Amino acid sequence: MADYSKMTSGEFEEALTDIVTETMTVGEMLTIPGVYEILAEEFNNSVLDRWAADNPAKAYPDAHDLKCDSCGEYFSIEDPEDEEELGNVIHVGNECPGCEDGTLRKVTS
Ligand SMILES: [Zn+2]
Repeated sequence: MADYSKMTSGEFEEALTDIVTETMTVGEMLTIPGVYEILAEEFNNSVLDRWAADNPAKAYPDAHDLKCDSCGEYFSIEDPEDEEELGNVIHVGNECPGCEDGTLRKVTS
């Protein structure tokens, strides 16, 4: 049996990282008990931000317009059916398709 007493924590981490990246996808990793919960908590705010940006009609049911924070131009949140046609540009947090300088923000009336 090998003597592992000289193994450093850095060496352990390096081998663990290699094994994990060689053997599983992120989807498989999330099925390990506890891993999903830890990552969901760690990235909770990013997940919520991304969902809201991807689903503006659900996330902002009372908002009818988005406004560029740079040039001030207004854009309407379109129906989901139209999103493909528009290239998904009219979303909260996306770059302004007008000036390409600012970011689209929700306008509450
Ligand atoms: Zn703009």
